[in-house]
Amino acid sequence: MRPVTDASTPLLPSETPTATTLEELQRNLEAVRQRIDAAARRVGRDPSEVRLLPVSKTVPEERLRLVYEAGVRFLGENKVQEAQRKAEAMADLTDLKWSVIGHLQRNKARYVARFAAEFQALHTVRLAETLERRLEIEDRTLDVFVQVNSSGEESKFGLPPEEVPAFVKELPSFPRLRVKGLMTLALFSSDMERVRACFVRMRELQERLRQEAPDGLSFDELSMGMSGDFEVAIEEGATVVRVGQSIFGARELPDSHYWPTQGSQAGA
Ligand SMILES: *Cc1c(COP(=O)(O)O)cnc(C)c1O
Repeated sequence: MRPVTDASTPLLPSETPTATTLEELQRNLEAVRQRIDAAARRVGRDPSEVRLLPVSKTVPEERLRLVYEAGVRFLGENKVQEAQRKAEAMADLTDLKWSVIGHLQRNKARYVARFAAEFQALHTVRLAETLERRLEIEDRTLDVFVQVNSSGEESKFGLPPEEVPAFVKELPSFPRLRVKGLMTLALFSSDMERVRACFVRMRELQERLRQEAPDGLSFDELSMGMSGDFEVAIEEGATVVRVGQSIFGARELPDSHYWPTQGSQAGA
């Protein structure tokens, strides 16, 4: 699947102005949804198969209340403590749900077990064990995605694709973890064909898991694609795209703040 991408070039994530009003946020959300729809249609997919998960890290509460007003009911956060702080501050919005999409240390698993609806960065059995125990205490369940390192970069968290089939065989021991699919961060590169190769690897892995994975686990979801690459991800099968900057505006903190071990991979 290698469709020709259309001519209109959207703003680069790093050039997107900060959206501060309801109108600006609505306009950006609408523009991203249109790009999602167009990417899905290019490859004959139904756009409703693709969930847009707005990623709100660094964005303060006032603006999150505005995206809520614009209809958003699910927000992604990279850092669990920032997520928890916001979830508590906005607890009055009872139908707003939180997805933790970043690396989680085991000693912070209890926070996720308390408030998150979804966790997208599962990649060790020990973390699964800790989450299961904490979820039992809270009497909750959690939707989880297994994080895969699809780019082979050492700096990225996640399991190498070849280790995923053995890993998922352990997961039926953790009934409070509802396995939904796979998540990845693709290569950070402006070479879109190399980025696309990461997404293709994910789709192939998904196919394999659908055939061999234990009963009760679902691999229907593929969470892949961010502001800089979500259209390519959708062309290759993404069902969840995690988009921050194209909705809220460029972040001031560099991404290395969120992927602390990430080296200098510009132009990789
Ligand atoms: C920040 C982040 C995103 C979104 O990145 P944008 O460039 O803001 O779209 C997606 N996934 C993860 C894991 C993130 O930390």
